[in-house]
Amino acid sequence: MNIIFMGPPGAGKGTQAERIVDEFKVPHISTGDAFRLAMKQGTPLGVEAKKYVDQGLLVPDEITIGIVRERLSQPDCDTGFLLDGFPRTISQAEALDQIASELNKKIDHVINLSVDRNLLLARLTGRRICKSCGATYHILFNPPAQELVCDKCSGELYQRSDDTEEKVGTRLDEYINKTAPLLEYYRNQGILREVNGEQEINTVTAQISSLLRGLA
Ligand code: ADP
Ligand code: AMP
Repeated sequence: MNIIFMGPPGAGKGTQAERIVDEFKVPHISTGDAFRLAMKQGTPLGVEAKKYVDQGLLVPDEITIGIVRERLSQPDCDTGFLLDGFPRTISQAEALDQIASELNKKIDHVINLSVDRNLLLARLTGRRICKSCGATYHILFNPPAQELVCDKCSGELYQRSDDTEEKVGTRLDEYINKTAPLLEYYRNQGILREVNGEQEINTVTAQISSLLRGLA
């Protein structure tokens, strides 16, 4: 099954992806994670991406599309994949359709998580991530049992440098201007499904799971 998670920054895509890939046994492909890894390693891709990520701006399409093209060609995507944070522009969506057709694949489901802008700010500024395994927490809405320690692997939790109030504003504007128009693109293809991302984490997971199983 080939799935896309859409929604503004902080809607819960990563949180839900962690759970859904466990259930459906497909690789979780996050372009944001790919850029953060490259930035940490200081590769040429990371150096280039950092110029944009640090400002809360989208990385140029050519760079982002290249990463996804390479990743989807790997054998573990043969039985399906979950794209989280890609596509984010109409050009990326058109490129994805092209890549999929070259690889004899098609997108089966686009799940859109909707959350009000005011709540997104609280979610993003309170987000904490495990340095070791990447698990996502929230200081108020989904805290770990022990402060700043990952429940799953005991790794140390950190705050993303782009999860500050100032950068969140730019990121949400980028979403409105460049990514939100994609909803229409997928609605026209008849594969867009809406889920209210403001509900409790387990409720959102259960609704996505039902949709993907064709039960809702
Ligand atoms: P995205 O990947 O869409 O940017 P995340 O999954 O990282 O979003 O979630 C953003 C923040 O909101 C995290 O701190 C996460 O723990 C929290 N969060 C995610 N889903 C919910 C929810 N349904 N209710 C409350 N908090 C949530
Ligand atoms: P995320 O982890 O999805 O919140 O992404 C973090 C940052 O990575 C974004 O603010 C962008 O700078 C960059 N990024 C991630 N995915 C994309 C994409 N599909 N297109 C352009 N930039 C992206």
